[in-house]
Amino acid sequence: SKTQVGFIGLGNMGKPMAKNLLKHGYPVIATDVFPESCKELQELGAQIVDNPAEVADQADRIVTMLPSSPNVIEVYTGPNGILKKVKKGSLLIDSSTIDPAVSKEMAVATEKMGAVFMDAPVSGGVGAASSGKLTFMVGGVEEEFTAAQELLTCMGANVVYCGAVGTGQAAKICNNMLLAIGMIGTSETMNLGIRLGLDPKLLAKILNMSSGRCWSSDTYNPVPGVMEGVPSGNGYQGGFGTQLMAKVLTVLCTTSGDGRELMSVAPLQDLGLAQTTATNTKTPVPLGSLAHQIYRMMCARGYAGKDFSSVFQFLREDEEE
Ligand code: NAD
Repeated sequence: SKTQVGFIGLGNMGKPMAKNLLKHGYPVIATDVFPESCKELQELGAQIVDNPAEVADQADRIVTMLPSSPNVIEVYTGPNGILKKVKKGSLLIDSSTIDPAVSKEMAVATEKMGAVFMDAPVSGGVGAASSGKLTFMVGGVEEEFTAAQELLTCMGANVVYCGAVGTGQAAKICNNMLLAIGMIGTSETMNLGIRLGLDPKLLAKILNMSSGRCWSSDTYNPVPGVMEGVPSGNGYQGGFGTQLMAKVLTVLCTTSGDGRELMSVAPLQDLGLAQTTATNTKTPVPLGSLAHQIYRMMCARGYAGKDFSSVFQFLREDEEE
């Protein structure tokens, strides 16, 4: 029979992911700081313990799914963290979307304990997490990839090896930067077309048969009424929160590329220093930086909890004044 798998972070994504491990016959031992989120999994037969150290005391394969870098640092290196009790030879897989430099820090700290760390952030939302159709982008030692794959295929349709630790996060950030830019571009284009007198449905149809077509125009159109089954048709509820998008772009703009500085970078996530550290990467990301600014402005103006396609609504605020 299969040995126990640890799971830490039973939120919107983690809970359905852990359920899929159970479905595939893996006994699960789990924890979350928010006790309420453990209930359902416990009823399904998972063992619930108080903290990450207790998970590590019993399981030698652990998946973490946490909001952001500070939570990951806490869960791995905190007083009741995984590394307090990790067994030699354990495999630790972090599927949170965080700064790749934090992933590298966690890998170094894990290696010191004789265990292995891999970053494996996901693409696909709660629906994909529930149906086991996530895409995992995996970074870490290649020899360990097969072991990680065994667990990740229970939760995802695609498991892609990206390279050294941190490269999974790098792939995720690149995708999200393009997504953010594409969504803003689609929104301002649609708004311009509407003000030029075009019917939004017709404009979307034309874009989608022309060279302007992108995922934001043909699969997740931000204009209410153009498509069904997307957040724009539902008051921008659900979907991928503007705040989470802003976080990912903050990571983009604050990644130093030098893991050594990292522990002290966490407070920067609140900041106006993003542009300075963008300069440190020596990579020009003019549109990525602008997208970051726009999503941060939206967070400050009450859009934090809305889907990121609400940038369309944000761009039309001038009309309502
Ligand atoms: P969430 O906030 O719903 O869940 C995170 C869970 O972690 C919560 O239940 C929280 O209580 C728990 N947690 C926080 N600190 C903890 C600690 N110290 N110890 C134990 N548990 C702790 O977030 P989510 O939507 O599940 O997203 C998780 C990650 O996946 C994020 O990094 C997000 O960017 C990424 N992601 C989300 C989506 C999505 O559509 N929601 C899609 C792709 C990737």
